[in-house]
Amino acid sequence: MSIQADSLLLETRHTLHKWLSLSTGVIILFFSFLNVVILKQTTIGLTEAFFGLLNLYFFYSAHQGKIKKWHGYMLITSLTVTIFYAFYSADLRAGSVYWLIILPPLYCLLAGPKLGLVYTILLSLPAISFLFIKSDIESYIPHRSVLNFSLAYFLSFAICYLYETQYTKSSQILHRMAFEDPLTGVKNRHALKLFFDDFNQEAMDPFQEKYEPEVTRLLMIDIDHFKSVNDEFGHEVGDSVLVEMAELLQSYTENHHVYRIGGEEFLIIQNSTSTQAYEFAESIRKRIENNIFRTHQNNIKVTVSIGIAELKRGQTFREFLRVADKNLYSAKNKGRNLVHYSSISLTEAV
Ligand code: GH3
Ligand code: MG
Ligand code: MG
Repeated sequence: MSIQADSLLLETRHTLHKWLSLSTGVIILFFSFLNVVILKQTTIGLTEAFFGLLNLYFFYSAHQGKIKKWHGYMLITSLTVTIFYAFYSADLRAGSVYWLIILPPLYCLLAGPKLGLVYTILLSLPAISFLFIKSDIESYIPHRSVLNFSLAYFLSFAICYLYETQYTKSSQILHRMAFEDPLTGVKNRHALKLFFDDFNQEAMDPFQEKYEPEVTRLLMIDIDHFKSVNDEFGHEVGDSVLVEMAELLQSYTENHHVYRIGGEEFLIIQNSTSTQAYEFAESIRKRIENNIFRTHQNNIKVTVSIGIAELKRGQTFREFLRVADKNLYSAKNKGRNLVHYSSISLTEAV
């Protein structure tokens, strides 16, 4: 349910996994047919048939949105086994060695650059040894074959490695720009909208094995009379107070579900019972009340009003914000520096 820092990367990897499973499944089954029916190489053909069908199963699972971790590892294994086995057992002149060159980029893309490098090196040892032996037996020039193969093999990995690491960096920057508040570094309103979509989607997913709770609680925190902080100390000091406020809220929460949804308004997602949510909000309110914001040689004290709203599945983003706003303004109307939760008895701060 949480927004992963690398969610864009994960999505790209899932798309690659899906379409690679389909294309390699079809290609492997084609070779299986060729080997069994035309070339009469039954052992290779049946091995290929097994892995080809397995890859098609991975495609089907990915299409249903049910990619499991082992699918990724098995896809890598199936490609490695079929390609290496074909290279090992077939005549070198048939050209099966060329297929080995596609493995390093696939390792890099499917398993990530670091693990991909490990797989690439591990496969290079038997691949280069067998190529040397085979080219000697089959009247190729062993040293030059091995040299050409090794250069192409590692270069294909290097190109993909550079591209992948650069892509990772760019997507992390884009992710930060899209979902992070530039002033405080906590998540922004756009990230909250994404959380809402995820929350509702999980309920609708018929394949979900474990359902998340139907309701979660959100604390809407608004700094009291913040305008007067700006008026008295200046906008820059006001900014520093907002930054420290975000840091404090982050330090109070374990899951880092802190969002800045307006100028001096923050929101925290709290997956707990109503009483726990209320007690948590109260503890935040008291801690802020007792905190001294030391910034630009000023000692500033601020208080917050907190409205707790229940988020039910199926509720729209707008609907929720309307309820949350109402709860927050009930707290403001009752005098500020207090917590308001309409579902349980209201206890005002003393
Ligand atoms: P209330 O107790 O009713 O919430 O009073 P308030 O003054 O906090 O609320 P109001 O909505 O009247 O004013 C919000 C102020 O927050 C106005 C604006 O100057 C300030 N503010 C909003 N965003 C920023 C920001 O990014 N930096 C700074 N320094 N101030 C901001
Ligand atoms: Mg406000
Ligand atoms: Mg305010």
